[in-house]
Amino acid sequence: DQFCHAMPKIELHAHLNTCFDSHTLKELVERKSQTNKDVSINWSMSISDCKEMDDSFNVFKLIHQVVDDEEAVYKLTVGVIRSFAADNVKYLELRSTPKEIPRTGMTRELYVRTMLRGVRDCQAENLDIEVYLLLSIDRRNSVEVAQLTVDLAEKFKEETDGLVVGIDFSGDPAVGNAADFIPVFLSAKQKGLKVASHLAELPKFEETLAVLRQAPPDRIGHGTFLHRYEPGQGHEEIEDIVLTKKIPIEACMTSNLKTKTVTVYMEHHFNFWFQKKHPVVICTDGTGVYQTTVSEEYAHAARTFNFSRKDLWHLSLASIDCIFAPESVKNKLREKWQAAFPHDP
Ligand code: IMP
Repeated sequence: DQFCHAMPKIELHAHLNTCFDSHTLKELVERKSQTNKDVSINWSMSISDCKEMDDSFNVFKLIHQVVDDEEAVYKLTVGVIRSFAADNVKYLELRSTPKEIPRTGMTRELYVRTMLRGVRDCQAENLDIEVYLLLSIDRRNSVEVAQLTVDLAEKFKEETDGLVVGIDFSGDPAVGNAADFIPVFLSAKQKGLKVASHLAELPKFEETLAVLRQAPPDRIGHGTFLHRYEPGQGHEEIEDIVLTKKIPIEACMTSNLKTKTVTVYMEHHFNFWFQKKHPVVICTDGTGVYQTTVSEEYAHAARTFNFSRKDLWHLSLASIDCIFAPESVKNKLREKWQAAFPHDP
């Protein structure tokens, strides 16, 4: 465990509002309770107690109640980056859904600007972590809002010289049809944005196949059911596309266990893809909601799949290939990893 903590790591699947540390969350809840009596939220309910996908979406709602203005978004961004840096995460792609909240004067643009302010202030603290942003599209919202998010990402990509590097497609997978968003994904690609897409979190094979055929993402979030199809239904193509296009998979083991889409670590699809030598990256999904860290996720992998220190280091090194930042950043990171090579097994 100590080795997993000390080892340099990468986090590619982290939602801002699910990555709170307990200190920041407490501060945000107290702050909101003073100004808004409606925040009589049952915070005694254990956040980590969410049992199913449905539960975790209820938890997200609670968090969104206290992260609804500029100061809260700023505090959370800074808190999240500091926590990842303390876990020896050297490169982070942080994703969040830009929100329009008239009550607090929050606009989608201000939301992104505020996150960027947090990123820059952390840079000024000389934290040893590179941070890039993905703007999330929530599939519960309309295709129009999704397109607005892509346009916003394009604008900020130019303004920040690539710090906003792409988009994420997420939200309750039980709601709507991912295929409706294909024109939006294509528009993002056309604008030079990278696309990370939650796919096959649930056994929704038709939408998964449509997206993979028409607008394959640059990385897949979860991908829990990519290979868990019934033979003979025409869904084999899903696995083929992922393999031939070498689309990296963001594996969030504890998250999937807690939301009950996977039963035990040993059964996690991380292993399926890893055995095929397919790129698969260990991520948390949300350190706060799922009560984990990137180090702990590596430690789970080590215990479950019998990885040596060198195996873990190679796994962590290989994740650099899957980041969205340019080659120059990748090369700098590789140097950092080389310096941390474990000479004992
Ligand atoms: P935010 O985008 O920073 O507000 O982070 C919370 C949001 O991330 C949620 O409202 C969901 O839209 C999304 N999210 C977090 N975890 C998951 C997941 O496991 N599946 C799909 N969407 C998720």
